[in-house]
Amino acid sequence: MLRIYASELRALLHETSEYPQIETGGSLLGLWSVNGNPTVFLATRPGPGSQRSATHFVQDAAFHNQVERRLLESDGIQSLGLWHSHHSLGLHELSGGDRRRTQDAARRSRRARSCDLLTYFSGSSTQAGGEISVKPYVYTDAAAGVLAPTQLVVLDGMSPIRAAMLRAGGDAHLSPALRGAPDTWAGPWRSADSTAALAAQEEDQPVQERHRRSLFGRRPKEATVETSAGAPAGAPAANSVEWEELLERHVAPLLGGVDQAGLECEAEPIAEGRALQVLLRTKTRTATRVLYVAWDGRQAVVFRDTGAWANRTESVEYVRENEAIALPRALDGAIRGLTTAR
Ligand SMILES: [Zn+2]
Repeated sequence: MLRIYASELRALLHETSEYPQIETGGSLLGLWSVNGNPTVFLATRPGPGSQRSATHFVQDAAFHNQVERRLLESDGIQSLGLWHSHHSLGLHELSGGDRRRTQDAARRSRRARSCDLLTYFSGSSTQAGGEISVKPYVYTDAAAGVLAPTQLVVLDGMSPIRAAMLRAGGDAHLSPALRGAPDTWAGPWRSADSTAALAAQEEDQPVQERHRRSLFGRRPKEATVETSAGAPAGAPAANSVEWEELLERHVAPLLGGVDQAGLECEAEPIAEGRALQVLLRTKTRTATRVLYVAWDGRQAVVFRDTGAWANRTESVEYVRENEAIALPRALDGAIRGLTTAR
Protein backbone atom coordinates (compact mmCIF):
# COMPACT_ATOMS: atom_id res chain seq x y z
CA MET A 1 0.00 0.00 0.00
CA LEU A 2 1.22 3.48 -0.82
CA ARG A 3 -0.53 6.38 0.91
CA ILE A 4 -0.40 9.86 -0.56
CA TYR A 5 -2.08 13.12 0.39
CA ALA A 6 -4.50 14.41 -2.22
CA SER A 7 -2.54 17.68 -2.52
CA GLU A 8 0.61 15.72 -3.51
CA LEU A 9 -1.18 13.44 -5.93
CA ARG A 10 -2.69 16.52 -7.58
CA ALA A 11 0.73 18.15 -7.88
CA LEU A 12 2.23 15.19 -9.76
CA LEU A 13 -0.88 14.65 -11.90
CA HIS A 14 -0.82 18.31 -12.89
CA GLU A 15 2.89 18.11 -13.75
CA THR A 16 2.22 14.98 -15.87
CA SER A 17 -0.68 16.68 -17.66
CA GLU A 18 1.53 19.57 -18.71
CA TYR A 19 4.00 17.30 -20.54
CA PRO A 20 2.10 14.76 -22.65
CA GLN A 21 5.11 14.10 -24.91
CA ILE A 22 8.11 13.89 -22.59
CA GLU A 23 8.97 12.14 -19.35
CA THR A 24 8.79 14.31 -16.28
CA GLY A 25 8.85 13.47 -12.58
CA GLY A 26 10.03 14.41 -9.14
CA SER A 27 10.93 13.37 -5.62
CA LEU A 28 8.65 11.66 -3.09
CA LEU A 29 9.24 12.46 0.59
CA GLY A 30 7.54 11.11 3.67
CA LEU A 31 7.64 8.31 6.22
CA TRP A 32 7.36 4.51 6.36
CA SER A 33 4.65 2.89 8.53
CA VAL A 34 5.55 0.09 10.95
CA ASN A 35 4.28 -2.41 8.38
CA GLY A 36 6.56 -0.98 5.71
CA ASN A 37 4.03 1.12 3.80
CA PRO A 38 5.14 4.57 2.62
CA THR A 39 3.11 7.74 3.19
CA VAL A 40 3.93 10.55 0.77
CA PHE A 41 3.86 13.97 2.48
CA LEU A 42 5.52 15.86 -0.36
CA ALA A 43 5.73 15.20 -4.10
CA THR A 44 7.99 17.65 -5.90
CA ARG A 45 8.24 18.52 -9.57
CA PRO A 46 11.55 18.24 -11.47
CA GLY A 47 14.43 20.17 -9.95
CA PRO A 48 16.04 22.91 -12.07
CA GLY A 49 18.89 20.63 -13.19
CA SER A 50 16.77 17.59 -14.07
CA GLN A 51 17.01 15.91 -17.49
CA ARG A 52 13.78 15.31 -19.36
CA SER A 53 13.21 13.85 -22.80
CA ALA A 54 10.77 11.64 -24.64
CA THR A 55 12.62 8.58 -23.39
CA HIS A 56 14.02 9.37 -19.96
CA PHE A 57 13.76 11.38 -16.77
CA VAL A 58 16.64 12.00 -14.37
CA GLN A 59 15.85 14.03 -11.26
CA ASP A 60 18.23 16.83 -10.26
CA ALA A 61 20.24 15.04 -7.52
CA ALA A 62 21.44 18.25 -5.86
CA PHE A 63 17.87 19.56 -5.61
CA HIS A 64 16.61 16.20 -4.33
CA ASN A 65 19.30 16.05 -1.62
CA GLN A 66 18.74 19.65 -0.60
CA VAL A 67 14.99 19.17 -0.16
CA GLU A 68 15.56 15.96 1.77
CA ARG A 69 18.13 17.54 4.11
CA ARG A 70 15.86 20.47 4.80
CA LEU A 71 12.75 18.37 5.48
CA LEU A 72 14.67 15.94 7.67
CA GLU A 73 15.77 18.88 9.82
CA SER A 74 12.43 20.69 9.92
CA ASP A 75 9.93 17.81 9.93
CA GLY A 76 11.80 14.53 10.33
CA ILE A 77 10.76 13.16 6.93
CA GLN A 78 13.01 11.62 4.30
CA SER A 79 13.12 10.61 0.67
CA LEU A 80 10.90 7.62 -0.15
CA GLY A 81 11.70 7.38 -3.84
CA LEU A 82 10.81 9.04 -7.12
CA TRP A 83 7.83 9.42 -9.36
CA HIS A 84 8.00 9.75 -13.15
CA SER A 85 5.80 9.83 -16.20
CA HIS A 86 5.74 7.51 -19.20
CA HIS A 87 3.43 10.05 -20.87
CA SER A 88 2.14 8.36 -24.05
CA LEU A 89 5.17 6.12 -24.58
CA GLY A 90 3.02 2.99 -24.36
CA LEU A 91 4.97 1.59 -21.42
CA HIS A 92 2.47 1.11 -18.58
CA GLU A 93 4.90 -0.54 -16.17
CA LEU A 94 8.30 0.38 -14.80
CA SER A 95 10.96 -0.48 -17.36
CA GLY A 96 13.90 -2.73 -16.56
CA GLY A 97 16.01 0.43 -16.54
CA ASP A 98 13.69 2.09 -13.98
CA ARG A 99 14.02 -0.89 -11.65
CA ARG A 100 17.80 -1.04 -12.07
CA ARG A 101 18.06 2.67 -11.23
CA THR A 102 16.18 2.09 -7.95
CA GLN A 103 18.37 -0.93 -7.16
CA ASP A 104 21.56 1.05 -7.82
CA ALA A 105 20.36 3.98 -5.69
CA ALA A 106 19.38 1.62 -2.84
CA ARG A 107 22.82 -0.02 -2.89
CA ARG A 108 24.57 3.35 -2.91
CA SER A 109 22.46 4.84 -0.11
CA ARG A 110 22.15 1.52 1.81
CA ARG A 111 18.43 2.01 2.19
CA ALA A 112 16.41 -1.20 2.30
CA ARG A 113 13.11 0.29 1.16
CA SER A 114 12.03 2.41 -1.72
CA CYS A 115 8.94 3.24 -3.70
CA ASP A 116 8.14 4.41 -7.20
CA LEU A 117 5.07 6.07 -8.65
CA LEU A 118 4.46 5.82 -12.36
CA THR A 119 2.06 8.04 -14.30
CA TYR A 120 0.97 7.61 -17.90
CA PHE A 121 -1.81 8.70 -20.18
CA SER A 122 -4.62 6.13 -20.05
CA GLY A 123 -5.18 4.47 -23.39
CA SER A 124 -3.32 6.25 -26.14
CA SER A 125 -4.79 9.66 -25.41
CA THR A 126 -2.27 12.47 -25.48
CA GLN A 127 -4.84 15.24 -25.61
CA ALA A 128 -4.58 17.99 -23.05
CA GLY A 129 -7.08 17.04 -20.36
CA GLY A 130 -6.75 13.31 -21.21
CA GLU A 131 -7.10 10.80 -18.37
CA ILE A 132 -3.92 9.99 -16.46
CA SER A 133 -3.26 6.66 -14.73
CA VAL A 134 -1.20 6.42 -11.56
CA LYS A 135 0.49 3.17 -10.55
CA PRO A 136 2.33 2.74 -7.21
CA TYR A 137 5.22 0.35 -6.55
CA VAL A 138 6.79 -0.57 -3.20
CA TYR A 139 10.13 -2.33 -2.97
CA THR A 140 10.46 -4.52 0.13
CA ASP A 141 14.11 -5.14 -0.71
CA ALA A 142 15.16 -2.31 -2.97
CA ALA A 143 18.77 -3.40 -3.50
CA ALA A 144 17.56 -6.79 -4.73
CA GLY A 145 14.71 -5.22 -6.74
CA VAL A 146 11.98 -7.13 -4.85
CA LEU A 147 8.57 -5.50 -5.34
CA ALA A 148 5.37 -6.07 -3.35
CA PRO A 149 1.86 -5.84 -4.83
CA THR A 150 0.79 -2.26 -4.18
CA GLN A 151 -2.44 -0.27 -3.99
CA LEU A 152 -2.75 3.50 -3.96
CA VAL A 153 -4.58 5.02 -0.98
CA VAL A 154 -5.37 8.73 -1.21
CA LEU A 155 -5.49 10.70 2.06
CA ASP A 156 -7.95 13.60 1.96
CA GLY A 157 -6.89 17.17 1.72
CA MET A 158 -3.67 19.07 2.10
CA SER A 159 -0.48 17.43 3.31
CA PRO A 160 0.61 18.97 6.66
CA ILE A 161 4.07 19.53 5.15
CA ARG A 162 2.69 21.51 2.22
CA ALA A 163 0.33 23.39 4.56
CA ALA A 164 3.32 24.38 6.73
CA MET A 165 5.24 25.51 3.63
CA LEU A 166 2.34 27.67 2.55
CA ARG A 167 2.00 29.15 6.04
CA ALA A 168 5.71 29.95 5.95
CA GLY A 169 5.07 32.31 3.09
CA GLY A 170 3.93 30.44 0.00
CA ASP A 171 5.94 27.81 -1.83
CA ALA A 172 6.33 29.62 -5.14
CA HIS A 173 9.26 31.72 -3.97
CA LEU A 174 11.07 28.68 -2.57
CA SER A 175 11.22 26.83 -5.83
CA PRO A 176 8.96 26.29 -8.82
CA ALA A 177 9.65 22.59 -8.25
CA LEU A 178 7.64 22.71 -5.01
CA ARG A 179 4.50 24.13 -6.61
CA GLY A 180 1.21 22.39 -5.96
CA ALA A 181 -1.54 22.00 -8.57
CA PRO A 182 -3.64 25.10 -9.22
CA ASP A 183 -6.80 25.02 -7.08
CA THR A 184 -8.99 25.13 -10.17
CA TRP A 185 -7.26 22.20 -11.90
CA ALA A 186 -9.30 18.99 -12.00
CA GLY A 187 -7.87 16.74 -14.69
CA PRO A 188 -9.36 13.23 -14.89
CA TRP A 189 -7.25 10.44 -13.42
CA ARG A 190 -7.51 6.88 -12.20
CA SER A 191 -5.36 4.70 -9.99
CA ALA A 192 -4.09 1.36 -11.24
CA ASP A 193 -3.00 -1.21 -8.64
CA SER A 194 0.24 -2.92 -9.39
CA THR A 195 -1.25 -5.90 -7.49
CA ALA A 196 -2.15 -8.27 -10.33
CA ALA A 197 0.72 -7.46 -12.59
CA LEU A 198 3.26 -7.77 -9.83
CA ALA A 199 1.86 -10.94 -8.35
CA ALA A 200 2.34 -12.42 -11.80
CA GLN A 201 5.70 -10.78 -12.12
CA GLU A 202 6.93 -12.35 -8.90
CA GLU A 203 5.89 -15.73 -10.11
CA ASP A 204 7.58 -14.97 -13.42
CA GLN A 205 10.74 -13.62 -11.92
CA PRO A 206 13.13 -16.45 -12.88
CA VAL A 207 11.70 -16.55 -16.41
CA GLN A 208 11.91 -12.81 -16.72
CA GLU A 209 15.54 -12.78 -15.66
CA ARG A 210 16.42 -15.40 -18.20
CA HIS A 211 14.63 -13.65 -21.02
CA ARG A 212 16.35 -10.38 -20.38
CA ARG A 213 19.00 -10.02 -23.00
CA SER A 214 21.02 -7.13 -24.18
CA LEU A 215 20.92 -7.68 -27.87
CA PHE A 216 23.31 -6.31 -30.42
CA GLY A 217 25.59 -5.41 -27.56
CA ARG A 218 27.00 -6.70 -24.33
CA ARG A 219 24.76 -9.00 -22.33
CA PRO A 220 23.95 -7.95 -18.78
CA LYS A 221 25.38 -10.32 -16.20
CA GLU A 222 22.07 -11.85 -15.16
CA ALA A 223 21.47 -13.09 -18.68
CA THR A 224 24.01 -15.82 -18.04
CA VAL A 225 21.69 -17.42 -15.48
CA GLU A 226 20.36 -20.41 -17.33
CA THR A 227 18.22 -22.56 -15.12
CA SER A 228 14.87 -23.90 -16.24
CA ALA A 229 13.27 -23.55 -12.78
CA GLY A 230 9.98 -21.66 -13.06
CA ALA A 231 9.60 -22.09 -16.79
CA PRO A 232 5.97 -22.44 -17.83
CA ALA A 233 4.93 -25.98 -18.70
CA GLY A 234 5.42 -26.66 -22.37
CA ALA A 235 7.59 -23.59 -22.90
CA PRO A 236 10.87 -24.01 -24.66
CA ALA A 237 13.78 -23.94 -22.24
CA ALA A 238 14.86 -20.33 -22.18
CA ASN A 239 18.42 -21.15 -23.08
CA SER A 240 17.21 -22.89 -26.23
CA VAL A 241 15.71 -19.63 -27.52
CA GLU A 242 18.25 -17.76 -29.59
CA TRP A 243 16.79 -14.36 -28.82
CA GLU A 244 19.70 -12.43 -30.21
CA GLU A 245 19.54 -14.17 -33.51
CA LEU A 246 15.73 -14.21 -33.77
CA LEU A 247 15.29 -10.57 -32.93
CA GLU A 248 18.28 -9.35 -34.87
CA ARG A 249 17.10 -11.14 -37.98
CA HIS A 250 13.35 -10.58 -37.70
CA VAL A 251 12.54 -7.67 -35.42
CA ALA A 252 15.38 -5.24 -36.09
CA PRO A 253 14.41 -4.83 -39.78
CA LEU A 254 11.01 -3.56 -38.59
CA LEU A 255 12.76 -0.61 -37.01
CA GLY A 256 13.31 1.54 -40.06
CA GLY A 257 15.17 4.71 -39.29
CA VAL A 258 16.62 3.64 -35.96
CA ASP A 259 20.38 3.40 -35.81
CA GLN A 260 20.86 -0.25 -34.95
CA ALA A 261 24.47 0.03 -33.86
CA GLY A 262 24.54 -0.66 -30.14
CA LEU A 263 20.80 -1.24 -29.87
CA GLU A 264 19.81 -2.81 -26.56
CA CYS A 265 16.83 -5.10 -26.17
CA GLU A 266 14.91 -6.43 -23.20
CA ALA A 267 12.03 -8.87 -23.52
CA GLU A 268 9.77 -9.26 -20.49
CA PRO A 269 6.54 -11.22 -20.02
CA ILE A 270 3.50 -9.02 -19.28
CA ALA A 271 -0.24 -9.58 -18.82
CA GLU A 272 0.34 -12.71 -16.74
CA GLY A 273 2.54 -14.19 -19.41
CA ARG A 274 0.10 -13.73 -22.30
CA ALA A 275 2.32 -11.23 -24.10
CA LEU A 276 5.89 -10.05 -24.30
CA GLN A 277 6.96 -6.46 -24.03
CA VAL A 278 10.06 -5.97 -26.12
CA LEU A 279 11.91 -2.78 -25.29
CA LEU A 280 14.49 -1.70 -27.86
CA ARG A 281 16.66 1.26 -27.06
CA THR A 282 19.74 2.85 -28.55
CA LYS A 283 22.78 2.82 -26.26
CA THR A 284 22.76 6.60 -26.20
CA ARG A 285 19.13 6.57 -24.99
CA THR A 286 18.11 8.78 -27.89
CA ALA A 287 15.41 6.44 -29.18
CA THR A 288 13.12 3.91 -27.58
CA ARG A 289 10.84 1.49 -29.33
CA VAL A 290 8.36 -0.68 -27.44
CA LEU A 291 6.87 -3.69 -29.23
CA TYR A 292 4.06 -5.75 -27.72
CA VAL A 293 4.26 -9.27 -29.06
CA ALA A 294 1.83 -12.16 -28.60
CA TRP A 295 0.53 -15.40 -30.09
CA ASP A 296 -2.90 -14.64 -31.58
CA GLY A 297 -3.94 -18.28 -31.89
CA ARG A 298 -2.53 -18.66 -35.40
CA GLN A 299 0.67 -16.69 -35.59
CA ALA A 300 3.08 -14.46 -33.71
CA VAL A 301 2.09 -10.80 -34.02
CA VAL A 302 3.12 -7.32 -32.95
CA PHE A 303 -0.14 -5.88 -31.62
CA ARG A 304 1.25 -2.59 -30.43
CA ASP A 305 4.39 -0.73 -31.42
CA THR A 306 5.26 2.68 -30.09
CA GLY A 307 8.39 4.73 -30.39
CA ALA A 308 9.86 7.93 -29.10
CA TRP A 309 12.97 9.90 -29.88
CA ALA A 310 14.76 12.20 -27.50
CA ASN A 311 15.15 14.91 -30.15
CA ARG A 312 11.49 14.88 -31.15
CA THR A 313 8.52 15.86 -29.08
CA GLU A 314 5.97 13.28 -30.21
CA SER A 315 5.82 9.56 -29.66
CA VAL A 316 4.57 7.52 -32.58
CA GLU A 317 2.14 4.60 -32.81
CA TYR A 318 3.16 2.29 -35.63
CA VAL A 319 0.38 -0.25 -35.39
CA ARG A 320 -3.18 0.90 -35.84
CA GLU A 321 -5.79 -0.44 -33.49
CA ASN A 322 -7.00 -3.91 -34.53
CA GLU A 323 -4.34 -4.15 -37.21
CA ALA A 324 -1.70 -6.42 -35.73
CA ILE A 325 1.41 -7.06 -37.80
CA ALA A 326 2.38 -10.68 -38.35
CA LEU A 327 5.94 -11.59 -37.44
CA PRO A 328 8.01 -13.95 -39.58
CA ARG A 329 6.98 -17.59 -39.12
CA ALA A 330 10.43 -18.38 -37.76
CA LEU A 331 9.41 -16.65 -34.53
CA ASP A 332 6.18 -18.64 -34.09
CA GLY A 333 7.59 -21.42 -31.93
CA ALA A 334 9.42 -19.16 -29.54
CA ILE A 335 6.66 -16.55 -29.19
CA ARG A 336 3.94 -19.18 -28.78
CA GLY A 337 5.88 -21.04 -26.14
CA LEU A 338 6.74 -17.89 -24.20
CA THR A 339 3.40 -16.11 -24.27
CA THR A 340 0.71 -18.75 -23.90
CA ALA A 341 -1.44 -17.90 -20.89
CA ARG A 342 -0.90 -20.09 -17.87
ZN1 LIG B 1 10.39 4.80 -16.77
